[in-house]
Amino acid sequence: MFDKVLIANRGEIALRILRACREMGIKTVAVHSTADDSAMHVRLADEAVCIGPPPAKDSYLNIAAIISAAQISGADAIHPGYGFLSENAHFASIVEEHGFVFIGPTAEHITLMGDKIAAKDAVKKAGIPVVPGSDGGVSTYEEAIKVCKDIGYPIIIKATAGGGGRGMKMATCEAELELAFRSARSEAESAFGNAEVYIEKFLGRPRHIEIQVLADNYGNVVHLGERDCSLQRRHQKVLEEAPSPALNKEQRDRIGAIAAEAVKKIGYRSAGTIEFLYEDGEFFFIEMNTRLQVEHPVTEMITRLDLVREMIRIAAGAPLGYTQEDVVFIGHAIECRINAEDPVSFMPCPGTIGIYHAPGGLGVRVDSGLYTGYKVPSHYDSMIAKLIVHGTNRNECLMRLRRALSEYVIDGLKTTIPLHQRLATAPDIINGDYDIHWLEAFMEETKPK
Ligand code: ADP
Repeated sequence: MFDKVLIANRGEIALRILRACREMGIKTVAVHSTADDSAMHVRLADEAVCIGPPPAKDSYLNIAAIISAAQISGADAIHPGYGFLSENAHFASIVEEHGFVFIGPTAEHITLMGDKIAAKDAVKKAGIPVVPGSDGGVSTYEEAIKVCKDIGYPIIIKATAGGGGRGMKMATCEAELELAFRSARSEAESAFGNAEVYIEKFLGRPRHIEIQVLADNYGNVVHLGERDCSLQRRHQKVLEEAPSPALNKEQRDRIGAIAAEAVKKIGYRSAGTIEFLYEDGEFFFIEMNTRLQVEHPVTEMITRLDLVREMIRIAAGAPLGYTQEDVVFIGHAIECRINAEDPVSFMPCPGTIGIYHAPGGLGVRVDSGLYTGYKVPSHYDSMIAKLIVHGTNRNECLMRLRRALSEYVIDGLKTTIPLHQRLATAPDIINGDYDIHWLEAFMEETKPK
């Protein structure tokens, strides 16, 4: 097992990884920008190395500085968390070339899944159903017209190198196609440095359902069930739950087995997530994330597995040590992403935390680096906390969620807690009756006039 792990991230996920390491008796090295001098993960780590100024490109994305920090501190392995360099194949190779272990999949698998066309092709060959669409990239408008005629409107244009819900363009008819196609290409070029786009059938009212998998270096693969992440704003997840209120055991077992089998065929290792859109009883692959996900705690709560520990064990060469039959799902879990944002306009709202009081009690978990007096920097993502609750069933989970939200005090800045309070009492949410468009429609309907 590793003696020392460097955590190449910040915020709640850096703390999350630190906690897993500490429980395993592994020493931790935090790296941080000058804006994060007093961050909780920096305070709690065994060692901390400042790697640059506040802009992420100069610090959390600064590969040379991170590798130097690993060398100076004598770390054995690097955990990238999510975001930043977590899906950067170049970083994964550099880490390994310098003699450190990358706690994640191989650089080859990151490259494969980072190219969304290649990913779609690979999983299709491995038996996973995909969204109907273009056969590979579409480079000219004339070709786009033809593809869209074949698949039928509405369609969605996506960047091959895309991510983070950005740069997708829809067209409901041919008249809208030219603008959508040209702007998708130019946005893809400026956001991802690659103008290539592909086209998919736009699904009208799907749910976003994803399967968590774990695979070791010896071909052992398990799936840990699904997460329903349909509550989204601008393609970004706001609240996630497991299991999905839309699936029964038979559907879960079937899609889980298909996902695990495909992962085995591809030869993937570490934690990974296969994302699907689910409509009218059918699943359609959209992408695979080759990293730990923000919403991994809901899976941890219902399986009682520590996903970060599992990633570390796998990276250290340990076999999984359990089979699909050993994975048992218990109860229901919901996660609320709490952002430092105005709960109506979603404008980021960094600032200094006044009084801070996190909820607790049975079945309540808070993953956050917040504390009284902490200054939330303006340079990074606005997510400042995750509230995760577990109940023996969905109803108990929702009751507990309402109770926990009512206890949560984060003074000094605006947060999205009031939005979560509204969601936790909305009849459609209580009934589990929502799709990926529900949240935006709800925000529009309930907007103050
Ligand atoms: P990204 O990598 O940028 O997150 P994804 O392919 O995972 O992009 O899609 C993100 C979200 O965009 C999905 O959760 C869904 O809400 C929406 N989306 C993607 N593809 C489609 C589609 N074919 N039809 C309808 N919505 C889609």
